[in-house]
Parts: sequence; C-alpha cells; structure tokens
Amino acid sequence: MALVALRNVTKTYPSPDKNGAPVVAIDDVSLDIEQGDVYGIIGYSGAGKSTLVRLVNALEHATSGSIRVDGRELTELPERELRELRLGIGMIFQQFNLFNAKTVQANIAYPLTVAGRPKAEIRARVAELLEFVGLTEKAKAYPDQLSGGQKQRVGIARALATSPRILLADEATSALDPETTQEVLALLKRVNREFGVTIIVITHEMDVIQSLATKVAVMDGGRVIEHGDVFDVFSNPRNPSSQRFVATVVKGVPSPAEIAVLRERHEGRIVTFSFADGDASQAQVFVELSQAGLEFELVYGGINDIQGRAFGHLTLAIRGEDATTDAVLARIAERIEVTEAA
Ligand code: ADP
Repeated sequence: MALVALRNVTKTYPSPDKNGAPVVAIDDVSLDIEQGDVYGIIGYSGAGKSTLVRLVNALEHATSGSIRVDGRELTELPERELRELRLGIGMIFQQFNLFNAKTVQANIAYPLTVAGRPKAEIRARVAELLEFVGLTEKAKAYPDQLSGGQKQRVGIARALATSPRILLADEATSALDPETTQEVLALLKRVNREFGVTIIVITHEMDVIQSLATKVAVMDGGRVIEHGDVFDVFSNPRNPSSQRFVATVVKGVPSPAEIAVLRERHEGRIVTFSFADGDASQAQVFVELSQAGLEFELVYGGINDIQGRAFGHLTLAIRGEDATTDAVLARIAERIEVTEAA
C-alpha cells in the first residue's frame, strides 16, 4: 500500500466575503505516493499545492475524503496521535524558518528537545546531522551568519532530526541562486537515497523537477489534472492546462509574447515540433519539408534533460503553399507532436 494515499479529498475554506461561495482549495483529489518516491507537486500559484501538503502533514483537516499516511487514517486520529505522526514528517520551507536567536546546533536539536529525548542522545544525533549536511564547523554560529544555502542545510538537518520517513519541501530552493539550488538538491537526493526518506516537493522550478523528482502531479484549480513519471508528463503533457503550465517551465517552447516577436521578424507559419528521446525524427522533419519544396528556418528551440533522458522543441518559420504545408504537417503529426502558433 502507498505510503501516502489520498482518496477523493476535498478541502474548502469559508469565503473571504461574508456571503460569498466557499473557496474550494482541494477538489476531489486522489493520489498515491509510494515509499521512496521523490514526488513533485507543480502548478500555478493558488492551485492548491500548499493546502495539499498541509493536509498530508495534518496541519489542516480535510473537509471530506480519506488521507492515509503509513496506513493510518488521518481523519480519524485523535490529536495526540496526530502529534506523533507529525514527528514522522519533516518539513522545510522557502524562507528556512530557523530560530534566529538559537545557534545552528540548537536549531537542529529543537525537535528532539521538544520530544523530550535524553541530552546525550540529542548531542550525538545533532553531531551526526551536522556532519551529514557539512556544517560541523558552524555548530555554534547563528542563522544570520550563514548563507542561504547553509541556512537551508540547517533546515534539512532539523527536519531530519526525528528520523522522519517523509520530508515535505515547500519551495525549498526558490530563494536560492542556481548554484546553491544545485547543492541543496544534491543533498536532498542523498536524503532520499541514503535514508530512504520519501520526499514531496512543491515547486515551480524546472531544476527541481529535472534533477530531483521521479514523479510529478500537476495541480490546477484544486485538482490534480495530470500525474505520473516526470519524463512522460514533461515530454508529452496531455491535459491542455498542464500543457500550458509545462510550456512555461521547459526550455524551447516560445511563450505567446515570444511568438509575437517571431512573427514580426520572420515570414511564414510558425510551427513547433516536439521530440522525445528515441525519436530519430528531427532530421526527417527537415527532409520532408525540403522534399515538399517548402522553405523554412529554425527560429526557436531547446533541449531538456530529465535524469539522463532528453526531449526538445524546435520552432520553424515555414514558407510555401498552404495546402502543401498542411499536408506535410499532417503527415509529420502522425509521428510527433506538431503545434502551430495561432
Ligand atoms: P498554492 O500553494 O498552489 O499557491 P494554496 O494551497 O495556497 O495554493 O491555495 C489554494 C486556494 O485556497 C487559493 O484560492 C487560496 O486563496 C485558498 N486558501 C489557502 N489557504 C487558505 C486559508 N487558510 N483560508 C482561506 N483560503 C485559503
């Protein structure tokens, strides 16, 4: 059975205006997260991602539906048992949420101190965690003496203090520069591989999905509109709304504004071809367009790499007879995705 299993989960909040309709933050979501997954939750702001994570953490109660974590039905557990369950779920945040008046070691010790563990055990565990995140020398420093990446490493150490089986990361690298992001992602990958911790990451960053997540769920309007293997969802999103979202984060797909610029600069029809690895058909597209007597130029493009597998998008401006172009595009569209700018 899945480590985290949601079935028909709905969460509504009272309307912000007195007589308005309630806000449906989560709308009939069913999702399975298996032990060992690194599960990315993506989608536009307001899609319901944070609410979903707060439900898993039992910081909020579902309005209806079932949430099982480690076989236990959250909606039926009394508060005392929920507190215990929360110890098995670590959490890290965009703004790190460290205690600025406490040293690094006291921050990491905090969850163990609250749980009333013996002092010697706490000392040993903190030393172990400091070493794991590479901050042994900073044990006595205060958070404001650390860089953003170091702060997040403290956040990770603190989240791991009680040896949780699940780690929730809410935009944990969004406040970091690209290089520091890569360091923190590498650390999270070790948390997953070496400790077998299941990680749920809320993110709007392609880097995070690309180098960390194994599975992904796309949320929109409180619903999970698409989910599955990261490569499949990103190289070939099926739902129109997830196509729109994925296009904003993958490389090589021109935005509507960029298409407008391309139109000004290039004559002809603007057409994007999408390739996944294994398709040896890029060259074939050029051959077919040439053989039909069409003129074309490459005007936009990019390749994405997801854990060693590549997919990409090429946008061409194509000039020639409309009927001929239509026929060639239709033939190519039988093999790969072809999108003509409206
Ligand atoms: P995301 O994390 O994807 O940006 P959220 O889960 O924060 O989305 O929000 C989903 C929807 O629920 C939004 O419409 C938001 O305004 C609403 N919402 C979230 N938390 C609350 C709350 N505590 N009270 C009222 N409405 C909320």
